[in-house]
Amino acid sequence: MHTAFISHPDCLLHEMGAYHPERPARLKAIEDELVACGLMDKLVRYSAPLATREQLKRVHTSEHIASLEAAARASSMGLVYLDPDTAMNRYSLKAAYRAAGAVILGTDLVIEGKVKNAFCSVRPPGHHAERDRAMGFCLFNNIAAGAAHALEAHTLERIAIVDFDVHHGNGTEDIFRNNPGVMMVSIFQHPFYPYSGIAGRSERMVNIPLAAGSGGEIFRETVSRFWIPALDQFKPQMLFVSAGFDAHQDDDLASLNLVEEDYAWVTEKIGKVAQKYANGRIVSALEGGYALPALGRSVAAHLCVLSSN
Ligand SMILES: [Zn+2]
Repeated sequence: MHTAFISHPDCLLHEMGAYHPERPARLKAIEDELVACGLMDKLVRYSAPLATREQLKRVHTSEHIASLEAAARASSMGLVYLDPDTAMNRYSLKAAYRAAGAVILGTDLVIEGKVKNAFCSVRPPGHHAERDRAMGFCLFNNIAAGAAHALEAHTLERIAIVDFDVHHGNGTEDIFRNNPGVMMVSIFQHPFYPYSGIAGRSERMVNIPLAAGSGGEIFRETVSRFWIPALDQFKPQMLFVSAGFDAHQDDDLASLNLVEEDYAWVTEKIGKVAQKYANGRIVSALEGGYALPALGRSVAAHLCVLSSN
């Protein structure tokens, strides 16, 4: 069985200003690297559908969806700012529906056994989007929409969300903190944007802060010591990955020092958990990662392991 690569040209039309780091070139850098290293030939491409409003209402309030729709109407006149870092142009809302739709399609494909796992190369990213709020470059919480789809449409009972983006996935925690069917394991630079993740920790919210300057050794020790035992205890039936690559040492937005080999290593670790409890079922979706060459190589390292599992 193959690995799905899910994307859509609409995700290239969303722009937040000429100098914004979360830019369309990120997706091009990923595809260029996958073609150059020969991996693209091993993947099966799928076009991301639009998520439906009903699918998004599992993780967002109607008010949040309505406020994005109102902002989308206003964006026909120019950029509309939702927070100082997050803006919408006239194409953003459609891209956001595609990004969430990609993770939902990946969930269907993996659970129905059509592919063994899936990577969603989409933007805007999602893990900062809370139930009732867009923030930090994120409009809808894509990974949460996929996880909720697995729980509600496919009636799975235990989902794990793995988040190795350098920023804490406050939105994912906000949405699932009180849901006994979801475990979240993450690392994040601390103290750092969005300055959350410490107060909400519990046995199902295994969010581990790392100091600026931390590298692969501390990352691997943290995963082995905290994530894996928690996952072994929870026995997830499916794993979702908030795959942000901004903890890379080349990434200027933050100050952790991971390298490609660390992303390959953690993907192997996650893959073993998935094999043990979840028939190998993994859906991964792009979050951050702003140093383009490092982003391309890191996604390739992640997909190299996913596609050979
Ligand atoms: Zn990030």
